[in-house]
Amino acid sequence: MRTLVLKGKEAIKKGAELIALGEVVAFPTETVYGLGADAFNEEAVKKIFAAKGRPSDNPLIVHIADISGLEKLTEEVSEGAKAVMSAFMPGPITVIMKRSKKVPLSVTAGLETVGIRMPSHPVAREFIKACGTPIAAPSANRSTHISPTSAEHVFEDMDGRVPLIIDGGDCEVGIESTIIDMSTGVPTILRPGAITAEMLAKILGAVKTFSGKVVVAKAPGMKYKHYAPSCETVVATDVDSAAQAYDDAAEKGLVPVIIARSSTAAKLGGRTHIDVGDTDADVCRNIYAALHRAEKIAGFIICEHFGEKGVCGSVMNRVMKSAGGKTV
Ligand code: AMP
Ligand code: MG
Repeated sequence: MRTLVLKGKEAIKKGAELIALGEVVAFPTETVYGLGADAFNEEAVKKIFAAKGRPSDNPLIVHIADISGLEKLTEEVSEGAKAVMSAFMPGPITVIMKRSKKVPLSVTAGLETVGIRMPSHPVAREFIKACGTPIAAPSANRSTHISPTSAEHVFEDMDGRVPLIIDGGDCEVGIESTIIDMSTGVPTILRPGAITAEMLAKILGAVKTFSGKVVVAKAPGMKYKHYAPSCETVVATDVDSAAQAYDDAAEKGLVPVIIARSSTAAKLGGRTHIDVGDTDADVCRNIYAALHRAEKIAGFIICEHFGEKGVCGSVMNRVMKSAGGKTV
């Protein structure tokens, strides 16, 4: 299959045509690029799992362009869910609600709940609107690989596997949406993201944060290896340990690289590094592109620990998975 990469109106038109034909289309959102199909077409949904190499027990998020899409997906919207939606939608958040019987179980991986998201990216919104149906979409990477934040990233993983990539430039947020489960008594964050626990608690009073320990696999996806570069990756707790790990790796003949904030990069004494910028938002926006670049130029990746405050806690949730939990 030939993979087209298109921009602008032509891309939206072609994308909507392909969705109507039951095909899979990659599209930009403010978080990461998604791999979309008509959520109500089971054959099309199957193609997402095939293109990604994703296990079928990992559910997909369903994307809508406006609130009218909601009633196709759920019949029960709690007061809490409404409050979260009016505060943060459209935006980088996914709300888990009871699924309507019309939502195929292949989308929800057999769960009685569905993850609903309304992206804020203008291209995503136009695309979904043009499709006229909710779009089921996971991130547009091969299963377990780093999530894509540019059309180039998608092309590297999906060339020959999907008919179209809609190019909408670089993603503004840079990591996947926050997932909040509003289907049970206590609102629970299943995946941290740019909408933080503190921001949600302001709206809801209290939320349970995902502790990292999966006792019951509520979101089956949580048990899989994720966001993994193709070479060994570790997290360094400070500048000295980053420099030490770099020198040890170099001595072993590996080609190391350090991913760091600008202020840390200045202290690395000329060691090869990728600078992810200064602010927390910069770090979040640039982390996946840095991991993509690092696996291309190096054989050993050392990533600075960016801290746990605000969005950095969410960034570290991904980086720790990339590193398989290894710290130095
Ligand atoms: P991705 O789009 O690749 O970031 O993956 C979507 C993720 O959303 C999955 O791995 C799940 O963790 C989560 N998810 C989607 N639907 C549900 C649901 N109904 N219940 C819990 N988690 C979900
Ligand atoms: Mg993903």
